[in-house]
Amino acid sequence: MSVMLPDFRLGKVLSTSFTGTLSERHGDAVERIPTPNRLVDWLAVSGLAVESCTTTQLERAWELRESIHAAATASALRDPLPVPAVQVINDCSIQGRAAAILTPEGNRRWQLSSASCVEDALSVIAADAIGIIAGERDGKLALCASPTCQAAFFDTSQSRTRRWCDMNTCGNRQKKARFNANKRKNP
Ligand SMILES: [Zn+2]
Repeated sequence: MSVMLPDFRLGKVLSTSFTGTLSERHGDAVERIPTPNRLVDWLAVSGLAVESCTTTQLERAWELRESIHAAATASALRDPLPVPAVQVINDCSIQGRAAAILTPEGNRRWQLSSASCVEDALSVIAADAIGIIAGERDGKLALCASPTCQAAFFDTSQSRTRRWCDMNTCGNRQKKARFNANKRKNP
């Protein structure tokens, strides 16, 4: 029997793609990695393929995800970083043994220490989050303007004025809502 599971919203930034696996946090939240197998799927499309995942590893992934979300949100708001979230991010970063590999084509890919090492994959995500929150990369953390979303995203637009975590979902919905409101005003 196959069960329909919510699809992924993949962005260009690994750690905020990861926090995006729980969407609509301030509305009807959608869990996009509800099972260990779904995390395996997400890691595969994110260049961090593992063979298997346990429930404990999935729970650790959720914990890291919510810690990145909390720290990135605080950073976007220029609030002090939440200490427990920073601790989880650092623990995950330290516990992995992933290596960056340069391919002959000049691309970077990640090599995990073993095929079932979800911890290695989480360490790559944690390190990506650290780079962004520490301001090491060209861009700015911001929060999605959709009231039911408010996801932290990494704005790399030239003007740094992006308002939505994702143009195809939150941005589009908002545009449609505005369009409908205008239609009601001017029938
Ligand atoms: Zn959004």
